Amino acid sequence: MFSKVLIANRGEIALRILRACKELGIQTVAVHSVADANAMHVRLADESVCIGPNPAKDSYLNIPSIMAACEITGADAVHPGYGFLSENARFAQILEEHKITFIGPSAHHIEIMGDKIAAKKTALELGIPCVPGSKGGVTTAADAEKVAGEIGYPVLIKAASGGGGRGMKVALNEGEISTAWSTARSEAKAAFGDDTVYIEKYLGKPRHIEVQVLGDGQGNAVHLGTRDCSLQRRHQKVWEEAVAPTVPMKEQDEIGEICAAAMRKLKYSGAGTVEFLYEDGNFYFIEMNTRLQVEHPVTERVTNMDIVYEQIRVAQGEKLSVKQSDISFYGHAIEVRINAEDPQTFAPSPGTISFYHPAGGVGVRIDSAVYQGYKIPPYYDSLIGKLIVHGRTRPECLQRLKRALGEFVVDGVKTTLPLFQRLIDEPEIISGDYDIHWLEKYLKANQP
Ligand code: ADP
Repeated sequence: MFSKVLIANRGEIALRILRACKELGIQTVAVHSVADANAMHVRLADESVCIGPNPAKDSYLNIPSIMAACEITGADAVHPGYGFLSENARFAQILEEHKITFIGPSAHHIEIMGDKIAAKKTALELGIPCVPGSKGGVTTAADAEKVAGEIGYPVLIKAASGGGGRGMKVALNEGEISTAWSTARSEAKAAFGDDTVYIEKYLGKPRHIEVQVLGDGQGNAVHLGTRDCSLQRRHQKVWEEAVAPTVPMKEQDEIGEICAAAMRKLKYSGAGTVEFLYEDGNFYFIEMNTRLQVEHPVTERVTNMDIVYEQIRVAQGEKLSVKQSDISFYGHAIEVRINAEDPQTFAPSPGTISFYHPAGGVGVRIDSAVYQGYKIPPYYDSLIGKLIVHGRTRPECLQRLKRALGEFVVDGVKTTLPLFQRLIDEPEIISGDYDIHWLEKYLKANQP
């Protein structure tokens, strides 16, 4: 058993991990920037270390500083959470060289999945269905034209090192391909320092469906079912459901088993998410995230599992606590991300929370690290908290979400709560009839 875990993150996810450690009797070390000195994860940890000034590159992304914090406190493992260093293979490697356990997959697995072209190649080899597209990088305009012609328009040009939806360009026809290809390349170079781009068939009305997997690095792996994360704005998820409401259970089981089998073959260790677009009954792999996801609680709620507990367990060299036959799905769960943002323009709204009253009651879970009087710093993401609601059925879950949204009060900053209070009454949300473009279209059509 680890005796001390350093949590290399902040906000709600740092608190989420800290809670799992406490329940397991593991000592915790919080690290923080100057601005986060009073943050909840710092207050509740057994020890804390200031790792640098406010910009993330100087603190939460500062590997030497985090290594020094491990050294000073004698931490024997590091949990990276999501974002920051969670998918940084070099960080995982450095920790390994210092005999400190990275609570996550091997540096090798992070690396293959971090490069989208390599990830797609691996997925195909493992029998995971992919979006039709170029075999590798497309290096000339003529090549782009040739590949796009073969796949058929419309096509999407994507950055190999992409993330957060950046460096993507759609070409509707042959007339647009060469400009789209060169713009995508320069955007990719500017954003990721790598101008490698590849081409995929552009799907018109897909849903975003993902599969949660867990492996123990010893060849055992399970899937914890699907999530639907189709409600997105600028490729950022805002509302997630488990299990995916519109995919027939038989198809869910099949894609889940394909992913679990792939993880067994890879001897994958820890939590991961295999992301797909889903259209006309077909799944198309887009990427794999080799870490804990923001939306993991909806899966925890319907499976009665603690994903962070399993991550810690397998990182210690133990086997998974469950077999596939132990996992069943109960009811329906929805998560909404409450951000400190203007609900219409989505401009960040940092500031002090003057009054805070979270929702409560049966079937409600709040993952948040804010409190009344807390000052939201302008330096990091704007997530205030996640409202996770469970019901025996999807309609019951929606009713409960509506009730919980009506109770939730955050004053002093603008939040996305009013957006969810509107969405909950929309017929397409109630029927579950939305694709990845629905929210953007809705926002455009419903400007006050
Ligand atoms: P990133 O790592 O930048 O998030 P992804 O490959 O996960 O990139 O894609 C982000 C989003 O872009 C997806 O959730 C989906 O909304 C859209 N997208 C990606 N690939 C396609 C495609 N082939 N057709 C249509 N939309 C796509």
